[in-house]
Amino acid sequence: MDFLQPRSWADALAVRAERPDAVPIAGGTDVMVDLNFDRRRPGALLDLGRVPELREWSTEDGWVRLGAGVSYARIIDGLATRLPGLAMASRTVGSPQIRMRGTVGGNLGSASPAGDAHPPLLAAGAVVEAESAARGARRIPATEFYTGVKRNALEPDELIAAVLVPAASGPQQFCKVGTRNAMVIAVSAFACALHPDRRAVGTGIGSAAPTPRRAAEAEEFLAGELDAAGLWNSRGELPESLARAFGERVAAAASPIDDVRGSAAYRRHSLAVMARRAVTWAWNDLRKAA
Ligand SMILES: Cc1cc2nc3c(=O)[nH]c(=O)nc-3n(C[C@H](O)[C@H](O)[C@H](O)COP(=O)(O)OP(=O)(O)OC[C@H]3O[C@@H](n4cnc5c(N)ncnc54)[C@H](O)[C@@H]3O)c2cc1C
Repeated sequence: MDFLQPRSWADALAVRAERPDAVPIAGGTDVMVDLNFDRRRPGALLDLGRVPELREWSTEDGWVRLGAGVSYARIIDGLATRLPGLAMASRTVGSPQIRMRGTVGGNLGSASPAGDAHPPLLAAGAVVEAESAARGARRIPATEFYTGVKRNALEPDELIAAVLVPAASGPQQFCKVGTRNAMVIAVSAFACALHPDRRAVGTGIGSAAPTPRRAAEAEEFLAGELDAAGLWNSRGELPESLARAFGERVAAAASPIDDVRGSAAYRRHSLAVMARRAVTWAWNDLRKAA
């Protein structure tokens, strides 16, 4: 197996174009598991670990540009204020070792329906920046990035350069149900983001459909009800009935399956509970900030 180790982003794209059989490897926390279990035996590995551009993050015009190779540990340390939902999700990933190595770019590359970065990226309205040597960079909204179970919208000659995430304009929450507290694949997960600047609500559902997805109808319902009751202005208490109705709509947006981790019925139920709780916590945070 060839081990290709470019030292710059331009070289990485060139290698990607020349060797379509090469599997990119960032932190390796998914790729190495596949190799160890003989699920893949690629002709080459394209190591992105020496590409400095991928490890950078920056802010511009209210957006955070998060290099694909930024680890969960660095998100927790440096971005908890700007990207609170993603930081909360990052804290639940694996173990300290996995959080040191694992990257959001790798989570997007694997595109598992259970990947923890996806719900907060969807809730925040993130955009994936992909690039190829031949066609340059393009931006793919997270809602269009996940195309099937462990499938994404990348072309064979593309790499993920970064993910662009709007810096939080309001409170965000992330909840995950697993069979234990750490080192666990989510049975179901939910993220929400309040966007008081545009009176909108964002959501992301994990582990309860073939792909991570938003609960668009639930978002519109809640934002509209908050508007109708004047709550965006008054910052009054969130009615329990409204939080519950939101949770039911989130659960209805899922298409879960029965598997070894949980039943479809449990996944739906847990989503309704998580969504109700998460939105209540987020709303209470918004009231405190007023
Ligand atoms: C013990 C253990 C516990 C875990 N716990 C969790 C958990 O709690 N939550 C969770 O979500 N995940 C978990 N994972 C899975 C894994 O850690 C995450 O999916 C992580 O985000 C992968 O990142 P990575 O950098 O290690 O990716 P890698 O393994 O290096 O790559 C993953 C995939 O992305 C592709 N890729 C990587 N970078 C790029 C790029 N820039 N452009 C294009 N393709 C790219 C690779 O080719 C590969 O297909 C766990 C894994 C282990 C081994």
